Amino acid sequence: MAPDCLFCKIIAGTIPANRVYEDEFCIGFPDINPQAPTHLLIVPKEHLASLAKADPEHTPLVGHLMAAATEIARSQKLSNGYRIVVNTGEDGGQTVHHLHLHLLGGRPMLWPPG
Ligand code: 5GP
Ligand code: ZN
Repeated sequence: MAPDCLFCKIIAGTIPANRVYEDEFCIGFPDINPQAPTHLLIVPKEHLASLAKADPEHTPLVGHLMAAATEIARSQKLSNGYRIVVNTGEDGGQTVHHLHLHLLGGRPMLWPPG
């Protein structure tokens, strides 16, 4: 838990979020500013500032987040496809410095992304 971290506060329950998914290691909840009909954030319970801060010891956790995202995509009926995004660092457009996956679906995605 990092004291000034928004996602740590959501995990602790001091800031509300609709947990559509939860397991021992992560939670999933809707993004407050959705960019697609389905836009969920998958967030590890452990505070890790970004993917760039992941050490080899975090490899199972990162894999778990991907597996959870896939499971959530199934439960959200995103059978036509979806996109998983991990904004990392300043050039990556990361604004909340607690690792998270964006799960976007319900419309065709564009490439290249902006
Ligand atoms: P990033 O830009 O770091 O990849 O993604 C952070 C995301 O967190 C943004 O898409 C933003 O809309 C979302 N967000 C920011 N504050 C809140 C909040 O208080 N609650 C929820 N559910 N999402 C938030
Ligand atoms: Zn945090």
